Amino acid sequence: MGTATFERERLRVARELAKLSQTQLAGKVGVSPAAISQFESGAARPGAATIASFSTTLNVPTGFFAEPITETHEGFFRSLRRTAVADRRRARAIAHVARDLAGYAAAAGRFPANDVPRIPVSGLDAGIDEIERIAGQARKTWKLPAGPVNNVVDLLEQHGVVVIRLPLGSADVDAFSLPFPDHPVVVLGADKNDRARSRFDGAHELGHLVLHGEQIWGVKAVENQAHRFAAALLMPAEEIVNQLPTTVDWPKLFELKRYWQVSLAALLMRARTLGRMSENTYLTAIKAASARGWRRVEPLPLGEPEQPQRLLDFLDDSVSREARRQLPVHIVAGIASAA
Ligand SMILES: [Zn+2]
Repeated sequence: MGTATFERERLRVARELAKLSQTQLAGKVGVSPAAISQFESGAARPGAATIASFSTTLNVPTGFFAEPITETHEGFFRSLRRTAVADRRRARAIAHVARDLAGYAAAAGRFPANDVPRIPVSGLDAGIDEIERIAGQARKTWKLPAGPVNNVVDLLEQHGVVVIRLPLGSADVDAFSLPFPDHPVVVLGADKNDRARSRFDGAHELGHLVLHGEQIWGVKAVENQAHRFAAALLMPAEEIVNQLPTTVDWPKLFELKRYWQVSLAALLMRARTLGRMSENTYLTAIKAASARGWRRVEPLPLGEPEQPQRLLDFLDDSVSREARRQLPVHIVAGIASAA
């Protein structure tokens, strides 16, 4: 029996990267499903030969199993409509690898430290004013100038959040985040080519990191809170309230879309939330937008979605030798190419 270091949760991550169940992996390496379950729970430890077999079967370096791992909760997934569990777990496992990479980049002085403010909401029924205030505080903490956020992805990276893009359609989510304490990871869908929506997704995930961190209480409530945070961060009330139309004024809304770099849908919602538009006017606008097909594809596209840069610059430079020994190369390549 070998005595190689073995971090039990790495086995689960490696297995999820390969989209294998415990039983499937057991069959491939010739051990019982119960043994896999025990290795993952820490009830038993695999010997060096078994670790070598995992390495070959799962296509990760043996060093991968030796790396310390930080666990966090399952992630704030925005939709659980269909069962896309294996795809979702794989996306989550890739986020773990991205966090590992950021660790190497940070050690090389190539990735900023995490300084996302944690401003927890008071609870499930926190009022809209509270969320607005917290979003304002986050803007202030990061010394954001008035006006639109120039680039949401860059803002996140500047403050130590890893942002990656993955095709998430099969995982049935638009975006999700994992609040690792050293480098939180935000995963944005690579399949939607919509800059406005992608910016909102990024701001929404930041909302989870600021408001919720490791806390989850009820999916619906936290989703609404993260949405309100995103709207308040991207469209500060005191700046936008008097710009928003009180009627369904499309030319004005187009102009605001271009300036604030948010969708028409987000502007309409903001107009209703801030009391500029009555419920009736809002519904009229939504109906008109639907009739024109704008709920699917909005007019006035804002161009390419924002792209993560910092981690990719580090990768381009050639991943450090240590990272190559520890990380699954095909996953790293995937992270680099999806962006
Ligand atoms: Zn969410």
